[in-house]
Amino acid sequence: MAENGLKNAKYTDLLPWSSAPETTKSFVTRICALLLEYVETTFDRSTKVVDFMQPEDLKTKIDLDLRDEPENLDKIVDLCRTSLEYSVRSGHPYFFNQLFAGIDVVALMGDFLSSTVNVSMYTYEMGSVFVLMEQEVLKKMRSLIGFEKGDGIFAPGGSMSNIYGMNLARYKMFPEVKTKGMRALPPLVMFTSEEGHYSVQKSANLLGMGTDSVIAISTDDVGRIVPGDLRAKVLDAKSKGYCPFMVNATSGTTVRGAFDPLNAIADICQEFGMWLHIDAAWGGAVLLSRKHRHLMKGSHRADSVTWNPHKMMGVPLQCSAFMTKHEVPFKINRFSMYYLFLCPQGVLQECNSAHATYLFQKDKKQYDVSLDTGDKAIQCGRHVDIAKLWLSWKARGNSGYERKVNHAFEMAQYLTDQVRKREGFQLVTEPEYVNIGFWYFPPSIRDLPDGPEKTQKLHKVGPEVKKGMTKKGSLLVGYQICKEFCNYFRMIVHNEAVGKADMDYVLDEVERLGKDLKF
Ligand SMILES: *Cc1c(COP(=O)(O)O)cnc(C)c1O
Repeated sequence: MAENGLKNAKYTDLLPWSSAPETTKSFVTRICALLLEYVETTFDRSTKVVDFMQPEDLKTKIDLDLRDEPENLDKIVDLCRTSLEYSVRSGHPYFFNQLFAGIDVVALMGDFLSSTVNVSMYTYEMGSVFVLMEQEVLKKMRSLIGFEKGDGIFAPGGSMSNIYGMNLARYKMFPEVKTKGMRALPPLVMFTSEEGHYSVQKSANLLGMGTDSVIAISTDDVGRIVPGDLRAKVLDAKSKGYCPFMVNATSGTTVRGAFDPLNAIADICQEFGMWLHIDAAWGGAVLLSRKHRHLMKGSHRADSVTWNPHKMMGVPLQCSAFMTKHEVPFKINRFSMYYLFLCPQGVLQECNSAHATYLFQKDKKQYDVSLDTGDKAIQCGRHVDIAKLWLSWKARGNSGYERKVNHAFEMAQYLTDQVRKREGFQLVTEPEYVNIGFWYFPPSIRDLPDGPEKTQKLHKVGPEVKKGMTKKGSLLVGYQICKEFCNYFRMIVHNEAVGKADMDYVLDEVERLGKDLKF
């Protein structure tokens, strides 16, 4: 079909309406070509990271209106092109804004494949090959954590995985919560770092415990939980009649990339009979590197772990694993309550199951129903998030992921050294991971004496430089406050396309955008 052949074509000329394959082929080919071009240009440093537009301007660029009449396919291709044109290029070598970055082409194809097949993960009947992939990957990830056995599930993001952890921890201590709810329980409290992820507070709200049930633990100068403060706050809560049920340790905090001391925390959990959950959404990937896995020393002592392959492992959103070392009973039957007493493992299934008989027929003859993962989940339909990860892991091997993680650390180290050396730049805290926090002092404030006036002015540099880079599309780096520190830049380094010259570029560009600022 000719290049313009889609002008006169409508969706009814595609499969399944038309048996002639040409139009479908041409349509799919043209969109694939667009996507391929997008991937190629994303890695070209002369491409803008974003062509930022105010929403009212953006609305004039893309025809959003939904009408009675269908559009022709040429228009649909055009809409795809426009969507790509105005999207943020998170794969770009100058994108450092978020905890995800880069484009893993194999994983991308895996995502394409998942949507093409379009099945759901809840039963082996539906998920077949993907259910087996999930089992295999979870087993691998558990072994890296140090869990000899256990269970797990892929969830739509780390926040969801943390909900699984909290729900399970509570259920393990008070199984009656499932049927009787919070009113049957003593007042619960849990503990997390003051720099921990906000999803913990959200989960406490959602699970009916309330955000006041989450007690924040002080952090040290690099952002790690102070074990002494944790122990003191557990004792304090107990003395006031609260029931401490869980500690959420963080491996790789979102802002500073700090790793909580797991062994010291595990000791305290053991002493008071609390569940230990590790939120390793961001930092879990260190387990793939022999050089850096010591940051999660003691991980095997946890009860459960959250780990997001859609962050450091570079798999497209969303891909998050929740894992527990507690095992599932192989068959659930109407005596399942007995499993609670006879078999203390198996909490994930027991905790979340509702035994929907239209999906999870216990008398299925065709296969082992323990492969029906759906009743472990708090969802019904569940997207195939596993194919992209499994395929990428196959393509890279363990060694490929190890290289990726080590490369990120090397780049972060290089950037840290440059920040130390350069005039006008200052490191905020010593990084443990690939989150590099730094200030840039424009010449106009550089020589002011330290004090509130200088801090106030420094505080304004982040938002101004950010506005500049977004408008220009030359770079995307986040900025924020943290504890007593005024606004600083938070660089997240892990795109594999990035080299040392790009690290220099970042500092050059921040300087270019900020050097003439006066307040
Ligand atoms: C990103 C992050 C989360 C949340 O993960 P989502 O997939 O964005 O929901 C939780 N905890 C930590 C430490 C994170 O960095």
